[in-house]
Amino acid sequence: VNRSDVHYFGAGPAPLPTTVLEQASQVLLNYNNKGIGLCEISHRSPEANEILANTKQSLATLLDIPDDYDILFMQSGGTGGFSSTVYNLVSIWVEKKRAKIAEEVGDDKEEVLKRLRKVVDEELKLDYLVTGSWSLKASQEAARLVGAKHVNVAVDARKSNDGKFGSIPPESEWSLTPRKAGGPAFVYFCDNETVDGVEFPSFPASLEGDDAPLVIADMSSNFISRKVDVSKYAVIFGGAQKNIGNTGIAIVILRKSLLPPTSAYASAETLRALNLPVGPIVLDYPTVAKNNSLYNTLPIFDVWVAGQVMAGLVTTYGTKKIGGQEDVSNEKSRLIYETLDKYPDVYRVVPSKAARSRMNICFRVHGGDADKEKAFLAGAEKKGLLGLKGHRSVGGIRASNYNAVSTDGAKLLVTYLDEYAKSA
Ligand code: PLP
Repeated sequence: VNRSDVHYFGAGPAPLPTTVLEQASQVLLNYNNKGIGLCEISHRSPEANEILANTKQSLATLLDIPDDYDILFMQSGGTGGFSSTVYNLVSIWVEKKRAKIAEEVGDDKEEVLKRLRKVVDEELKLDYLVTGSWSLKASQEAARLVGAKHVNVAVDARKSNDGKFGSIPPESEWSLTPRKAGGPAFVYFCDNETVDGVEFPSFPASLEGDDAPLVIADMSSNFISRKVDVSKYAVIFGGAQKNIGNTGIAIVILRKSLLPPTSAYASAETLRALNLPVGPIVLDYPTVAKNNSLYNTLPIFDVWVAGQVMAGLVTTYGTKKIGGQEDVSNEKSRLIYETLDKYPDVYRVVPSKAARSRMNICFRVHGGDADKEKAFLAGAEKKGLLGLKGHRSVGGIRASNYNAVSTDGAKLLVTYLDEYAKSA
């Protein structure tokens, strides 16, 4: 089977531009005519440094990332972001509280610790907006690391939707930790829920304002697919293997004020004394940032692939930057949803209209009849439309509409949806 005969709608790892893969096969053998390949050269070589710098520059251009933000590359995948955000931001929160108490109490370390313990016990809250399987997992990781009593699930979207994900409850129903009580250490949400097909239509208004909390967003599955006002976020992170590149790296966009010298981090000794976790050094933002993401061996080939994909978008969309990709993503998803909505007796889109993801289009065929969905998938495969099976936890059909899915691919899917519905 040739690549050109197939359109792949898998949820991740996901398709990559063919041109990038063709170049990749070359650079694996011989990078820049050095006689050795990109996986064989040092991550500290000038070539590697250039790749890192170019990749950061392309991302900064596409998303208009302000100067007071840093870009980090880590090997921890999207899941590593669930943990690193907790380790780092809790550490900052604790150190702020410790410094304030020390100002009042002076040098008496025992007394400082005693008061700090009380403050942590009573005030440490991490707010999670649970709108799908991935934010649920992130909140569970936070509970595992710092204890469930410190995790405030400000919204659980299943509660108002028959126990299932598929909507984003109105902000008036969220129970965020009140700002006047000191607010949470951070508010976390997953911008696009890959499994459930739920995407935030825009940045939540209740997370804005003068005394806005630190906001963390997991953008693993909608990274570089639409404009983002980066300045509203403390941390944006995501695994590369959907819109950006191949599996192996995660990208973190981090407000520089969360790094030393502006933010101090609690010492390992203090965290241990408070029964709070001390994170692995590879997830420590100050260490990774100080070393330009090269504290340990970074898979430079993976960074190169991401860099090529992003440079391609910079060239294609010019001054429109990521807005150009946003238009294409919107159009592809519009075409697919419009077709699904045309045949309500055959297809049912799972999430509510207001929360529909442009990236992961989740629907059922004939009310979820297992045999009919199997037949639908088999028919799609015959046409070269692959990767449409829904996540094993929810079943059904999921068409992932990442950047590398061409408009032609989306249109072929639309044609198949039409054909199938008419013959059903
Ligand atoms: N967050 C989201 C939104 C995801 O879709 C995924 C993976 O599919 C993850 C996190 C986990 O990423 P990883 O498998 O790289 O740890």
